[in-house]
Amino acid sequence: MRIALFGPPGAGKGTQAKRLAQAHGLTHLSTGDLFRTAIRERTPLGTRVSELLEAGELVSDDVTNGIVADRLETLAHGDFVLDGYPRTVPQAEWILAHLADAGAPLDAVVSLRVPDEAVVQRLSRRRTDPETGAIYHLDFNPPPADLDADALVHRPDDEPDAIRHRLEVYHQETAPVEAFLREHVRYFEVDGTGTLDEVQGRISGVLAKDRGLAGI
Ligand code: AMP
Repeated sequence: MRIALFGPPGAGKGTQAKRLAQAHGLTHLSTGDLFRTAIRERTPLGTRVSELLEAGELVSDDVTNGIVADRLETLAHGDFVLDGYPRTVPQAEWILAHLADAGAPLDAVVSLRVPDEAVVQRLSRRRTDPETGAIYHLDFNPPPADLDADALVHRPDDEPDAIRHRLEVYHQETAPVEAFLREHVRYFEVDGTGTLDEVQGRISGVLAKDRGLAGI
């Protein structure tokens, strides 16, 4: 199964992509994680994109499509869940064509709907474990008690000004992708509010109902 999770920052794409990956044996492919790893490892790509990430701006389509192409090549067309990609119409056009050319088209896009106020509330309390990639919310999904709280990271782009900017970018640049995806690929909308289990159940529910995705 090859799917993409779509939705605003803070919709829960990363958390749900990890859960889907684990439940269904998919590779989790997050462009945000690939960029953050490059920044942490101080690669030339990391140097190129670090200011953009900090400011909540999008990385160029060429660079982003390039890292996705590299990563997909290493997967040899195995199953995957895309998280945070595609985010622009040129990215969406490119990935659909690229996968179709490879004879392994994208099966579906699942869009997580979460209101802006909930996004701000979620991201300002989000913390990440840089070792494991685990994502926590200090109130709703707190880190385990035996974890060193000082080792958790509050992403610089989860500061209030950057969150507001990322939401603006989403509404201006990313939301129009929805119309394109609706037209060209099976597209499902899911309520992204509620507990992690509830949202996961809704995602698995729509995928299971879709006849083409037998086996999930
Ligand atoms: P995320 O972890 O998905 O919220 O992504 C964090 C940041 O990485 C974004 O705010 C962008 O700066 C960059 N980024 C991630 N995915 C993309 C993408 N598909 N296109 C452009 N920039 C991206």
